[in-house]
Amino acid sequence: MEEVSIPKCEVCNDCGPDVILEASDGTRFGVSASNLHRFSGAFPAPGFVHADSTAANEVIILHETADVVRLMVKFIHPGVRQPDIWRIGNLWQLAEAVEKYMIFPAQGVVKARVRSLATENPIQVFIYAARHGHDDLLLDVEKPIGLTDYKSIEIPLQLLYVEPPWVIGAFHA
Ligand SMILES: [Zn+2]
Repeated sequence: MEEVSIPKCEVCNDCGPDVILEASDGTRFGVSASNLHRFSGAFPAPGFVHADSTAANEVIILHETADVVRLMVKFIHPGVRQPDIWRIGNLWQLAEAVEKYMIFPAQGVVKARVRSLATENPIQVFIYAARHGHDDLLLDVEKPIGLTDYKSIEIPLQLLYVEPPWVIGAFHA
């Protein structure tokens, strides 16, 4: 069995990483299992992540890109400033990941940012709201989308269950 070394934590010097998160491009992040369990509700989430059984240390392989995983790792750190996500280019991917893995410290700020885009990107906001049960956001996009009542539309099932929404982005074009 090959011994896998755990990368140093990118965020702090003292959390003692004992789990490896591997992003879709193979970038690995050392994280503390205790932070993961305290600040997220879904590690490991069956169906989305799986442990590499050939590794001596636990490697959790994620579908997300390294830039999204890096932000998630920052958010599960207590005692450090949270990353500024207001102008990031991968907000929709981050929003999906934050909901999927229930990264509690990130959920509020990400939702606030998504809400702020209701006029600019109503379809994306609608997808996020419908997929993750944020009905209050549906009210915000009624007008920009041109609906009189969001309850009057039938949400296509694939919108709710097919992952991930940036693939469904084609729908928008
Ligand atoms: Zn750390």
